[in-house]
Amino acid sequence: MIENTFGMNIIPDNDIERLSALKRYRIMDTPSEASFDNIAKLCTQIFNVPISLVSLVDAERVFFKANVGMGNAKEANRGKSLCALAVLSDDVTVFEDALKEPCLMANPNVAGDFGLRFYAGAPLITYDGFLIGTLCIIDKKARSFSEKEKTILAGMATAIMDQVELRLSALDEIDKHLGLSKQADEQREEIYAMNEELTATNEELRESQEELIASANSLANVNEELAASNEELVVSQIELQNSIEEIEASAETLRMITDNMPQLAWMADGTGSIYWYSQRWFDYTGTTLSDMVGWGWQKVHHPDHVQRVTEKVSYHFNNGIVWEDIFPLKGSDGEYRWFLSRAIPSKNEKGEVIRWFGTNTDITDQRKLEQQKDDFLSIASHELKTPITSLKASLQLLDKIKDKEYSSMHIRLIEQSNRSMEKMSVLVDELLNIHRLTDGHLHLNKTTFTIAEMLDLCCNHVRVAGKHELVFSGDKDLQIHADEHRVDQVVVNFVNNAVKYAPDSKEIYLIVEKLDGFAKVSVKDTGPGIAPEKLPYIFDRYYRADHSGQAYNGLGLGLYISAEIIKKHDGQIGVESELGKGSTFWFTLPR
Ligand code: ADP
Repeated sequence: MIENTFGMNIIPDNDIERLSALKRYRIMDTPSEASFDNIAKLCTQIFNVPISLVSLVDAERVFFKANVGMGNAKEANRGKSLCALAVLSDDVTVFEDALKEPCLMANPNVAGDFGLRFYAGAPLITYDGFLIGTLCIIDKKARSFSEKEKTILAGMATAIMDQVELRLSALDEIDKHLGLSKQADEQREEIYAMNEELTATNEELRESQEELIASANSLANVNEELAASNEELVVSQIELQNSIEEIEASAETLRMITDNMPQLAWMADGTGSIYWYSQRWFDYTGTTLSDMVGWGWQKVHHPDHVQRVTEKVSYHFNNGIVWEDIFPLKGSDGEYRWFLSRAIPSKNEKGEVIRWFGTNTDITDQRKLEQQKDDFLSIASHELKTPITSLKASLQLLDKIKDKEYSSMHIRLIEQSNRSMEKMSVLVDELLNIHRLTDGHLHLNKTTFTIAEMLDLCCNHVRVAGKHELVFSGDKDLQIHADEHRVDQVVVNFVNNAVKYAPDSKEIYLIVEKLDGFAKVSVKDTGPGIAPEKLPYIFDRYYRADHSGQAYNGLGLGLYISAEIIKKHDGQIGVESELGKGSTFWFTLPR
């Protein structure tokens, strides 16, 4: 509270700013300092006064930063201190005799015991113009104060103010240092905090690291297990691959065997239901697995046989015994061929049939050959029987007249016997030939001879019979190196056939041609000829073309033997024939 004793406004308009200016010097209530005390002391000496003060005017009080002559007083009420008046003007405020100053009449320092008479106060002016206090001198007696003294006091006030500023700078400097050190402290603190954080993080890191190591270890274990499993897997895979390869190899082997063996093959389960056929089966029957699976095979069986076959095979399947049967199967061309079929059971350790492996062997040609052989035997017997019967009759008649006088009858019967014998001899020769040929015992005795000469000598029996004329044409001098006897046999066979199958062909032509590296011999008749569909079989064993309505003797071996002889010479044999025009049988031999 200000106890204003001056009867006038002592608060300047800018007091708030002034107070904040004062405040910034951080000087209020600080202990006395020699620098200020010294100036105050100096003032008392210069001006010869008992009291000198450095006063700082606060909001309600005046603080004495330096006090010379006022005892222990530290401060005074702003309303009672004359300094409150001195900070109202930039000039030095001077009261030479206070008792004469109306505004000071009521002032206790003037009116009271202290008995202040003289006051001169120079304002302490900040660099920015605020009057924050005074340097004043006080005396208890009235005195005069010259302009010069005023100037000195003002100068001293300036010195005080310089000190105040200096002090502030020092404080600021200290603060700065303090600030810096504070900053350093803070930084240190921060570093400590960080360190701690940092330490904490380390701990965390260590824990994480440990966890990581543990994870890595368990991962390594898992990895190892995985690697082991992987290895096992790889091994299993390799084994599997090997097994697959083995199975594939077995399947391939089975396929190769079944594809290359002449038989058709198939497999059935324990009940006899077929689930696999070899390619040959499909190739022959022209069917597919879906057609044939199970009991589908019945579709390619002959209706006359299927029931019997089914019954028999079912019986064998049911009883687990080897099955064998012969029956025809329909080919993709619709033709039936005969098959010898077998199936063997494959059993498990309990003796149960788990699979059947079956084959069908095409025996059509074999059956045909057997049939031909049978036919041949009956023909051969028949052929032999005729001359034998004739010979027997001749001999019986001879026996009857053996004691009778030798007559023409004897001669006829002997001749007849001879002819029968000759026929039998030819037949036996043919049979021997075929035997030798089939056993591979045909040996060639080669010489060089002129073909025309050979032809001239052969077939005299035809010339003698006089029914046919043998007409020679071609190269008379052509020579070959061959078995003359065997080649002669071929020519005789051709000529005999011409005589036999073309009886009305008056001329039989014998033609010799010289070809590039070959000699070609042809026997041509102008007989009935041979049907084109029969030509491909004409050189087959036992083959005899059917000359409808006409019965010809023969074994169906002549042309077969001829072909074998020519082939043995590395030559070729063939026939050109046209029905109603005649036939030309030919062979070639290397020269
Ligand atoms: P074979 O005369 O004993 O029957 P071949 O093998 O000599 O046996 O003759 C086979 C078949 O060829 C004869 O059955 C006959 O039908 C036919 N053939 C052979 N030569 C002639 C020919 N010149 N003219 C017509 N058919 C012939």
